[in-house]
Amino acid sequence: MTDRFKAILISKRDDGQSVDMVEMGADELMEGDVTVRVAHSTVNYKDGLALTGKLPVVRRWPMIPGIDFAGTVETSSHPDYKKGDKVVLNGWGIGETHYGGYAGLARVPGDWLVPLPEVFSTAQAMAIGTAGYTAMLCVLALERQQLTPDKGPIVVTGAAGGVGSVAIALLSRLGYAVIASTGRVREADYLMSLGAAEIIDRQELSGPARALGKERWAGGVDSVGSHTLANVLSMTKAYGVVTACGNAGGMDLPGNVAPFILRAVSLIGVNSVTAPKPLRLTAWRRLAKDLDPAKLEAMTATIPLDEVPRAGADIIAGKVRGRLVVEVG
Ligand code: NDP
Repeated sequence: MTDRFKAILISKRDDGQSVDMVEMGADELMEGDVTVRVAHSTVNYKDGLALTGKLPVVRRWPMIPGIDFAGTVETSSHPDYKKGDKVVLNGWGIGETHYGGYAGLARVPGDWLVPLPEVFSTAQAMAIGTAGYTAMLCVLALERQQLTPDKGPIVVTGAAGGVGSVAIALLSRLGYAVIASTGRVREADYLMSLGAAEIIDRQELSGPARALGKERWAGGVDSVGSHTLANVLSMTKAYGVVTACGNAGGMDLPGNVAPFILRAVSLIGVNSVTAPKPLRLTAWRRLAKDLDPAKLEAMTATIPLDEVPRAGADIIAGKVRGRLVVEVG
């Protein structure tokens, strides 16, 4: 095993943080029973927060950021994995408190890994990444609440972003009419190509919400939060279901209880980071079945490891469309 590798390292400074490309050795990695040669990682919104220091995502210093990776097992003392196995890791605190995916090697507890589904390459798994796996968790949550395409359309907010793009592709494939809410209406053709049936300007949802609005959709996948989520809830049909997974527009929820008590609307939270293994396996199995690989390719761009800091700033500035794969290996 070549035990020297390139990594991105975030270090704390008196005046903030520095982000550097460094060379490290395998003996500097953290505890874990599986060592993985990382082939690909990705840039999610949370990675952007870590790389820019905009929010305290990194809670142990220094830190190799990157909340996802896919690669090949180099060494393992975990019973489920052996050298040569292809694996994926999403969340569990990598890139936050445990060295993450922007490095040639990663050492992690094997219980955090899932086997790479056979239909995906490591690059495709990272085109999905936490954003896409979270979109699938949202779809599974809607299904658990008995939402079906005949009940009405689904609104997807933050539509041109990572969670939004994958959610549109999944929901349209499953037969839902998808209303895509975006600040980038110039991306209408892109969103339609992913399967959106209708595009709305996100400004329609960004002002203070009325207690109850006109009933426009049977459900929602919201990655924006704040007024947007409050508006989505106020315009959800009776017995509809909304999943909340993101805060790209803010952490607050300035709404009221009217949609819950007068329309029996359900609001379901989604947290990908600590999702239990059976749910992860279900999500990846469903992604393998329900995500059109051509749409995944159409929403994905690939960058080298040294462009990750710039990409982190871009995603926070809302300039990234769809998904970014990082070539690490
Ligand atoms: P992206 O940056 O790819 O997508 C976010 C999208 O939100 C943007 O593309 C933009 O879409 C929209 N947006 C951005 N800023 C604002 C704003 N101020 N007001 C309204 N809309 C805005 O990020 P990801 O898809 O990777 O993540 C989306 C969110 O979901 C993030 O908050 C992230 O932290 C969260 N997340 C949570 C997870 C969990 O486990 N709960 C897992 C994964 C992500 P457009 O240009 O179309 O308007």
